[in-house]
Amino acid sequence: MLLEGKIGVVLGVANKRSIAWAIAKRAVEEGAQLVLTYQNERLKENVVELAKDLTPSPLLLPCDVADEKQIDALFAGIREKHGGLDFLVHALAFARREELDGSFLNTAPEGFRIALEVSAYSLVGLARRAVPLMEGRKGSFITLTYLGSERAVANYNVMGVAKAALESSVRYLAADVGPMGHRVNAISAGPIKTLAASGVSGFSKILDVVKEKAPLRRNVDALEVADAAIFFLSDLSRGVTGEVLFVDAGFHAIGF
Ligand code: NAP
Repeated sequence: MLLEGKIGVVLGVANKRSIAWAIAKRAVEEGAQLVLTYQNERLKENVVELAKDLTPSPLLLPCDVADEKQIDALFAGIREKHGGLDFLVHALAFARREELDGSFLNTAPEGFRIALEVSAYSLVGLARRAVPLMEGRKGSFITLTYLGSERAVANYNVMGVAKAALESSVRYLAADVGPMGHRVNAISAGPIKTLAASGVSGFSKILDVVKEKAPLRRNVDALEVADAAIFFLSDLSRGVTGEVLFVDAGFHAIGF
């Protein structure tokens, strides 16, 4: 098993369609012991219910990444229960609905700040707290991004800017933690119907275009992303850091 004996924390499970949930399930199949977080009391019920399918049972802790105290409490909880950490999965993002519809020109300062803070800065704040727990281990961080970081995708708007910041953060973090033996990578997933995706206006059109144009002539599913995540979290990718890997049926490679 590729993650035998490893302790990991997965942030971003909202429901059974979440990419984070697919990654959590695969990680447990590969022998990992997990900590799962939920953003608020509303989502706690979902996560508690889903977690019943995982053996060994994961530790469940709240973590709204916009709240520094909750982040501190998360890592204190991990230290208390496990004493260390081998990997962190950052599979969360947020932008206000009004910023995900219409013109990017209309992005409000507050909408810009929230999207960048929750979707990009959070990786930095989490990594800073995780590193001390990874001492003496070869830690692995992964995050989830999207092609809208490098191309203007209709309605993706400020989230594209946040993903660009996130991908750049991956490279800077990789440079910082690499000398300690830790790695930081991103998976750029093709469109997958999840709660977050449904917040992007016209999302189903994006699915149709990928199906028509991608080299594989189909969309990807969360399990395919999870399999790539296992590669990054395991020693299979021990020589890879600072990378953005597309799991998108090849759509990013196509011109017209
Ligand atoms: P999802 O199931 O809706 O997961 C997004 C998660 O982010 C939810 O659990 C959400 O909780 C959480 N979140 C939002 N704000 C948060 C905060 N302040 N603190 C903690 N958690 C917060 O959607 P998903 O598609 O799996 O998204 C996972 C990642 O994949 C995201 O980074 C997304 O941008 C990326 N991605 C998705 C696609 C796609 O097409 N689905 C493609 C490429 C990349 P709430 O529900 O409470 O907001």
